[in-house]
Amino acid sequence: MSSIAAIVAEIAEEMRGETERGAVASYIPPLACISPDKFGIAVVMVDGTVHAAGDAQEPFSIQSISKVFALTLALGAVGDQLWRRVGREPSGSAFNSIVQLESEQGIPRNPFINAGAIVLCDVLLGRSEPREAIGQMVRFVRTLAGDDEGSIRIDEAVALAEQDTGFRNMALANYMRAFGNIHAPVERVLGVYFHFCALAMTCCELAMAGRYLMNGGRVDGHSIITPSRARRINALMMSCGHYDNSGDFAFRVGLPGKSGVGGGILSIVPGVASIAVWSPGLNGSGNSQLGTLALERLVQRTGWSVFEPRA
Ligand code: GLN
Repeated sequence: MSSIAAIVAEIAEEMRGETERGAVASYIPPLACISPDKFGIAVVMVDGTVHAAGDAQEPFSIQSISKVFALTLALGAVGDQLWRRVGREPSGSAFNSIVQLESEQGIPRNPFINAGAIVLCDVLLGRSEPREAIGQMVRFVRTLAGDDEGSIRIDEAVALAEQDTGFRNMALANYMRAFGNIHAPVERVLGVYFHFCALAMTCCELAMAGRYLMNGGRVDGHSIITPSRARRINALMMSCGHYDNSGDFAFRVGLPGKSGVGGGILSIVPGVASIAVWSPGLNGSGNSQLGTLALERLVQRTGWSVFEPRA
């Protein structure tokens, strides 16, 4: 067993015994019913080796991790023009906060808070139908993950529940529309947003899908995005990927990472590994409690923090 394999197995074992597991998201029934006992981890190395442990093969709702893939597609669609409509600064506020939008004229602080991702959905919608934008996303994520069988799907029950309870997201979208920063009808934009949130993936699939970010934009010999865009997406994941907890995540883990309220985190070690962890219990900022702890232990034992001197 390689030492990484041993570390991954050891961390999964340690997480099984943890009692402080955080609170499972309760705003929609399909998330509220997930057992807090779940924990999965998958590490895809740059040479393609995969190390996985725990519930790494169980699909979960990736939620806001989809914002990374939406950003990648939106940059592909409109390039750096995107930055006229979305900022690149940490918000220091909760993921679904509306407060800064008034003083900042409807321009969200960054693409990884809800308001920012809703703008990405508006960009991707363009003149197409919501169904097409959603289909494009599913195909993109399957390609990134090398999922030839099409196992990655949207959980329609989650998408529907998001729609039924998404009053804050509706407020964010309408507010930005009032400032002219949402162009398509709000219901269509949110239809796309809610379906992106409802993507269900396993840790193994998610870690595979993150490979382009560890590889300077390339995967399986194909260029997905330019090296400079991959570098910038990693930078945004580091500075903004955990909402008002992003500073603490950088302090504890020191890697680009994006979390979701389903309890998943995608984290990238540029040039080394793509990592996905999942445990549904969340801390006070809506980030996976054990997922963060597991990543913290992984970087302590591997020296993978980007702030660690390279050997
Ligand atoms: N569906 C959630 C929302 O829009 C996603 C938020 C998250 O994962 N932090 O509120």
